[in-house]
Amino acid sequence: MQCEKCDNRAILGDPLLCKDHFICYFEETIKTTIAEYDLIQQDSRVCVAASGGKDSLVTLYVLKKLGHDVHALAIDEGIGGYREHTLLDLQKFCTKYDIPLKIASFKELTGNTLDEILKRKKLHACTVCGTFRRYLLNKHAAGFDVLATGHNADDEAQAVLMNLLRAQTSILARPGPKTGSEKEGFIQRVKPLYFLTEKEIMTYAIIHNILLDFTECPNVTTSYRARVRDLLNEYAAKHPGTKKRVLEKFLRIRAALPTSNNQIDSCRKCGEPATGDVCAACRMLVTIRT
Ligand code: SF4
Repeated sequence: MQCEKCDNRAILGDPLLCKDHFICYFEETIKTTIAEYDLIQQDSRVCVAASGGKDSLVTLYVLKKLGHDVHALAIDEGIGGYREHTLLDLQKFCTKYDIPLKIASFKELTGNTLDEILKRKKLHACTVCGTFRRYLLNKHAAGFDVLATGHNADDEAQAVLMNLLRAQTSILARPGPKTGSEKEGFIQRVKPLYFLTEKEIMTYAIIHNILLDFTECPNVTTSYRARVRDLLNEYAAKHPGTKKRVLEKFLRIRAALPTSNNQIDSCRKCGEPATGDVCAACRMLVTIRT
């Protein structure tokens, strides 16, 4: 197939673009998202939540290319056979592109790796992981202007569907290109890849030789998100453009959706933001220790 903008061969079917026009489309989409949703100022200090997977590496790469002051923050959950490999890739990447990297770990916070916690307690891996990861990211990104994550159109369309399928009306409005707020003690989170799909990000990563290892977390198959992901992928294979349409419609109605009015206080144990007396991470610490 021919590129829709020139006579060269297209490397993707949707959009139908050759390599050069695809790179241009990809980077322009990120620039437009940043400008339209006021995600990052040119002089912002940007902390990127980096796992070493394609989404975070591409986020780091493009933000650096656009001239932003980027720093990488990784969380080592302690997932054997997986995280040590992605952290190694991340370290190599950060050295190559001269990006400062900080690694915080579950072990430092809890005294145990995620694997050790799950051996002792019958808890869902992603619940424990998500709670401590959010906590550590917020804590260690303090002092930066924004925390950029590698969430993409697939992740965000899944999040919209997950909230709908679970009828979680109080958090329906939560997904979006810009979430969190410094006023509430949470760093502003921004998602420059919001309108780009997994496939587009993978293509960009391969073109730039950014990612060579495609391993997934071994716990991913047990997650609710994985079931919604498969459902959405199956539907989108028959109806191309579905994921982006879900996001466009969602953003149109987002302002009218109910939002949570939870009061944000400081956790009396650790001082981090909390919606009650004690934050979710400190509550989880009690659960895993008793
Ligand atoms: Fe953590 Fe679950 Fe993601 Fe694995 S799949 S990194 S356990 S949230």
